Amino acid sequence: MGKFPGKQKKRMSKSLKGKVAVVTGSTSGIGLGIADMLAGSGCDVVLNGLVKDPSEAEQIASELSRKWRTKVRFHPANMLDPQEISDMISFAKQELGGADILVNNAGIQHTDPVEAFPKEKWDAIIGINLSSCFHSIQAALPVMRERGWGRIINIASTHGLVASRNKAAYVAAKHGLIGLTKVVALETAEENITCNAICPGWVRTPLVEAQISALAERESISHEDAARKLLAEKQPSLRFTEVEDLGAMAVFLAGDNAANMTGAILTADGGWTAQ
Ligand code: NAD
Repeated sequence: MGKFPGKQKKRMSKSLKGKVAVVTGSTSGIGLGIADMLAGSGCDVVLNGLVKDPSEAEQIASELSRKWRTKVRFHPANMLDPQEISDMISFAKQELGGADILVNNAGIQHTDPVEAFPKEKWDAIIGINLSSCFHSIQAALPVMRERGWGRIINIASTHGLVASRNKAAYVAAKHGLIGLTKVVALETAEENITCNAICPGWVRTPLVEAQISALAERESISHEDAARKLLAEKQPSLRFTEVEDLGAMAVFLAGDNAANMTGAILTADGGWTAQ
């Protein structure tokens, strides 16, 4: 589990007060950063993630709740299980009154060349990074329609737009998620519901730290040299994207000024996909 970001100042506009956000995979990394910013903007939040010890997740929930004075609950749905995903949306409705903002963020990674890619890793990545988004959208749309308002924010990746070697399942899932985003945007276009995707480049979360460690070991270089090398290969800004920046994008997409933005694919990648 990643550390609680907590850097954001307590001076945020409560523009999303009264809204309920469900953020999948929010016990760590980007999801936790987005949950933090949405709670800071006044949302009540359902956190979710795979944790070894549920008390850790409950602790994050109560820290967030204390910090922003909003209601924060944890639901342990496994994103590989459509029934648990549906239960998570019902839980949001029962506990907090709705599921107005859905952030599909849970994701995993595995790298190997296609012919060596373990079949079970392919299934898990497609299941967690793509199919879970279909299941959560399918469960959440009727709940959004009951309150006549909704925002779906899919956390895709630069790998939804371009490929890298050794990431067959991840690249396929993220390209698929961008396709799903566009279809849902069209199907909800005449309602007060939007569906957009955010495509981060490298963000320094546990998911990427594992790739930095693997590179450091492979090339017998230090962890920090490996981090610099990772950036230099792909991200022209040579800086990591911050979780707070992605949180701010989610708050914008959930707000009134983004009411007519739908089907948009927004990058935050330091120029990666401009090349
Ligand atoms: P992370 O490993 O820090 O967090 C992943 C989260 O997903 C955790 O909360 C974990 O518990 C949860 N999760 C994993 N499997 C799950 C399952 N079966 N059911 C429920 N929850 C599950 O990773 P991150 O870097 O914060 O990644 C978050 C999202 O951002 C992913 O979709 C990832 O593909 C995407 N992304 C990350 C980067 C990056 O550089 N870190 C770049 C582009 C896109």
